[in-house]
Amino acid sequence: MTPHPPARIRSVVAAPLFGESPKGGWSAEIRPEDSIHAIIAVHTQCGRIGHGSVFTDGRLVQAAVQVLEPLWRGENALEPERVTEKLHQNTFWMGRGGTLTHAISGIDIAMWDVLGQVAGLPVGQLLGGSYRTSVQPYCSVLMEEPARMTDVIAGYRDQGFRAFKIGWGPFGRALDTKLDEAIVRAAREAAGAGARLFVDAGASDAHWPHGLKWAIRAADMLQGYDVGWFEEALKPDALEDYVELRRRSPVPIAGGEVLTRRQAFLPWLARGAFDIVQPDVTKVGGISEQRRIAWTAQDFGVAYVGHGWNTALGLAADLQLATALNTDLVEYIGGSPYVDGLLEEPFALDEGGNLAIPATPGLGVRLSREKLARYTPDPGALFG
Ligand SMILES: [Mg+2]
Repeated sequence: MTPHPPARIRSVVAAPLFGESPKGGWSAEIRPEDSIHAIIAVHTQCGRIGHGSVFTDGRLVQAAVQVLEPLWRGENALEPERVTEKLHQNTFWMGRGGTLTHAISGIDIAMWDVLGQVAGLPVGQLLGGSYRTSVQPYCSVLMEEPARMTDVIAGYRDQGFRAFKIGWGPFGRALDTKLDEAIVRAAREAAGAGARLFVDAGASDAHWPHGLKWAIRAADMLQGYDVGWFEEALKPDALEDYVELRRRSPVPIAGGEVLTRRQAFLPWLARGAFDIVQPDVTKVGGISEQRRIAWTAQDFGVAYVGHGWNTALGLAADLQLATALNTDLVEYIGGSPYVDGLLEEPFALDEGGNLAIPATPGLGVRLSREKLARYTPDPGALFG
């Protein structure tokens, strides 16, 4: 038997998304014209094109793709893990874990897409097997003052969502624990007793004002509202405090969205800092890295829920990982055009509020050139 001919990479394109960038609840708030995501296309000599997504400023991604060119040019896109590891191993001296790692994530996702198309299999199956055909998306929205919070959750509940996460905004930042509780109460009442509700303090934001004792008090309060996890309750480098918080909190502790590279996750998993780890496939190093982090988490008894929620392609990668890792949730940003407005066939909830996991080859989604034209100046470069 002859080996399959390689799908040699002839170009990698990075297209920044901007124009309708959604708010992040950050203290230095994102403006619609800011680019915080880029779409990647890996073009191969055989004509197959894979797509991926990166969560960082599009200008940085374009520069990184250029810097990495001698390493990816002519490589075989059918070997995503090896090629991605080659990109990591040869760029350690340029600030590993930062922009280059983020950009490599998008290239890796796109190579898995190519491999799936050539193999005729969905990426989830290539990752080892398909445990599920659908997964529950939790609708992720920013915290608002209580009355507005009620309206926001009610709106998404009416769209069919049965799980919600509220985060950032005034929670903790307003230095008002009564307001914090009123927001959570409003969200729980609007979501209904049967819905899942998660709370994200967003302590990776600049100059987070609280420490361990605030987090413990907040966790005790959240228990009263049947909150499924408390996310980023501490500054993102406070490993020892996370370990202590997990021991003392009555609600599960989640985090890890700002960590990148599997090596960085290891002490957090080994020390027991999280009940749920949330690596971002569009930042950590792509699908190749994410699955290693997720498997390691399972071995340490830590649940894995992906954070690739920011674009339709990040979500598509999360869905494939969810079936291969048998994850019961994916994050889904509420009302973002970069998730709802990029695909030929947008994601749609079924009657139970779940998302079907695409079962067609590759990532199983198709970008719309026409729709992308609203958010990037040269969408054609992402296609043949
Ligand atoms: Mg978060």
